[in-house]
Amino acid sequence: MTTAAPTTSDESVISGVFDGRTWLEPSSNDRTTLIDPSTEDVLGVVALAQPSDLDAVIDPAVTAFTSWSSTSFTERAEYLQRISQIWQERGEEIAQCVSREMGMPITNSRLSNIAGSARNFSYYAELAHDAAAEQVRPALSFPGRTHVRANPVGVVAAIAPWNYPTYLMTSKIAPALAAGCTVVLKPAVENALTAHLMASIFQEAELPPGVVTIGIGGADFGQGLVKDDRISLVAFTGSTAVGRAIGSIAGERLALTNLELGGKSAAIVLDDADPQIVARELPPLAFRNSGQTCFAQARVIATPGAYQGVLDALAAWARSQVIGPALDETTTFGPLATRQHRERVLGFLDRALEQGARLVSAGDQGSLPAEGFFVDPMILADVDNRWEIAQEEIFGPIVVVIAAEDEDHAIELANDSRYGLAGSVWTSNPQRALDVARRVEAGSVGINGFRPDIGAPFGGIKESGQGRENGPEGLRCYLRSDSIYEFQA
Ligand code: NAD
Repeated sequence: MTTAAPTTSDESVISGVFDGRTWLEPSSNDRTTLIDPSTEDVLGVVALAQPSDLDAVIDPAVTAFTSWSSTSFTERAEYLQRISQIWQERGEEIAQCVSREMGMPITNSRLSNIAGSARNFSYYAELAHDAAAEQVRPALSFPGRTHVRANPVGVVAAIAPWNYPTYLMTSKIAPALAAGCTVVLKPAVENALTAHLMASIFQEAELPPGVVTIGIGGADFGQGLVKDDRISLVAFTGSTAVGRAIGSIAGERLALTNLELGGKSAAIVLDDADPQIVARELPPLAFRNSGQTCFAQARVIATPGAYQGVLDALAAWARSQVIGPALDETTTFGPLATRQHRERVLGFLDRALEQGARLVSAGDQGSLPAEGFFVDPMILADVDNRWEIAQEEIFGPIVVVIAAEDEDHAIELANDSRYGLAGSVWTSNPQRALDVARRVEAGSVGINGFRPDIGAPFGGIKESGQGRENGPEGLRCYLRSDSIYEFQA
């Protein structure tokens, strides 16, 4: 089934406020034009949700919480399974919408926005199905017993970025709903059309009104959500700067947070790494989604015997990419999401070259499509780990290669970062791989590859955040453990 995005009375403008039942007339004239990053065509205009719209999205979620939280885990699991099924049926529509909105090549978009996102609902449905709302334990210090109750934390504000939009929205919505929470979703403005599609899926699944509401707004609207006492938990994925601001506001009013933030993940390539595995697996990880991936292994640290081989492998992969519009089935490398983001990325490149980095890749901006926000995949060699290009998250297609003297030095360089989201170790010695991986300061580390598996906890340490998504751990932040003590003589 295809549902056109609902509009306001001005037919060319889509509403930014969904109260869980219908899209409302916006309360202001603040509009944003949505631009296709592959073609620079106008995709639509969205009337942004304002702080004055907060009641319209929070009140229904508060009302719905009473009934939704009292349904059983099994009942909620049935809703989630239904959403998962409809999501897959309408998957192509969603994948194309995301590709159009933020430039993700359609072949990748299908993986992330169909299978990956639908799986979030079926996975948390399976976990919810087996969850117990109450356990009884014998009291240990006193006569009697304790009923330990898994209660939903309340209304959740789910705030998401644009880079893997549906995955990062559903990785919050699915466990929150499974736990019995209701959700106010604030997607990135760039994903307004996708948010409309999602709302229509929830409607098709007959999710009760108010269980998920949506406000498509900017920073002021997001901040309004974070400040609001009716919001019990802020589940946020985005930059470290915004995460820090959210953590401090939420901390002030003792609200809960789950913060998935930025990264500058290091790939440690050791002399005994298998060159074929490195050549096949590492470049797509380093440049994943045109580098717009939180766990992109954008800082490659190689020991002397591996250094030149890694440079060659990255350069060969970069030259082999088909750079083009996201909806073209042959495209392997899409544009950056916005013009402003491309300017930011190219600014980092200029400063790195001035500082002494050596450009190894083709890097021929002149041969790129005339329209669209394209940037070639770039490889910079001879980079010092202390430089801005090695320390800051670029979130674009620039991979730096850093020389390490030996294994210990490589680990030291990898850990010399304010971030700690992900990392990887490349060696053909399994024991060495595990030993090194255990010394890397990051929430998740891969060996000869990296995959954020839905069954495993994902999240950062240091300035990459706190809390976890995915796995059973991804359900925990949405549940409180309360107890009832029952005296027995
Ligand atoms: P961003 O922090 O600018 O925005 C993220 C979301 O927060 C958007 O919806 C935005 O509108 C909203 N927002 C902005 N200011 C706000 C405020 N003051 N209060 C409340 N909400 C506010 O990030 P982005 O540019 O959209 O995404 C890129 C960043 O996301 C990168 O740093 C990337 O590493 C990070 N990211 C992290 C993960 C992870 O799992 N750790 C995954 C994907 C992306």
